[in-house]
Amino acid sequence: MPDKGKTPQKDLIKRDASHMPGADEIKSFMDEAIREAYNGLEEGGIPIGSVLVRKGKIIGRGHNRRIQFGDPTAHAEIDCLRAVGRLRSFKDTVLYSTLMPCAMCAGASIQFGVPIVIAGENRTFASSRHWMEENGLTVVDLDLDECFEMLKKFADEHPSLWNEDIGVELD
Ligand SMILES: [Zn+2]
Repeated sequence: MPDKGKTPQKDLIKRDASHMPGADEIKSFMDEAIREAYNGLEEGGIPIGSVLVRKGKIIGRGHNRRIQFGDPTAHAEIDCLRAVGRLRSFKDTVLYSTLMPCAMCAGASIQFGVPIVIAGENRTFASSRHWMEENGLTVVDLDLDECFEMLKKFADEHPSLWNEDIGVELD
């Protein structure tokens, strides 16, 4: 039991979701994440977009650029966090993504103390929602047809690109 006595990650960071935005604000920032997804699509990439919001302002935005950069870690949320750069604390931020974060992006959100994650949809991909919730994040799934259909169309047209993104090897 080498980890006995060590503080679990979920107890290291106190997450407060009292800055949960209202419905109008959520819609307008999810629209910005969707805009990022379309930017990715125009570049020939996977249409997933993300923005990070703090005190009602976007402080970083990004989209999946795995194909564009040849970088398997260039998911939308990671691209967005890289655009934000260093922050002393993520405690008053809200991360928006058109797709419920995967294990890597959920891990980054857990690690850096993001308290609220708002996802456009969670139908495409078996996600890490419960893992984030276990770690104290408040997760909202907007279940938007627009986000689902945009990604579904891409996945249907480019199955190998999509499966590579989620780490599934096709036969
Ligand atoms: Zn991801």
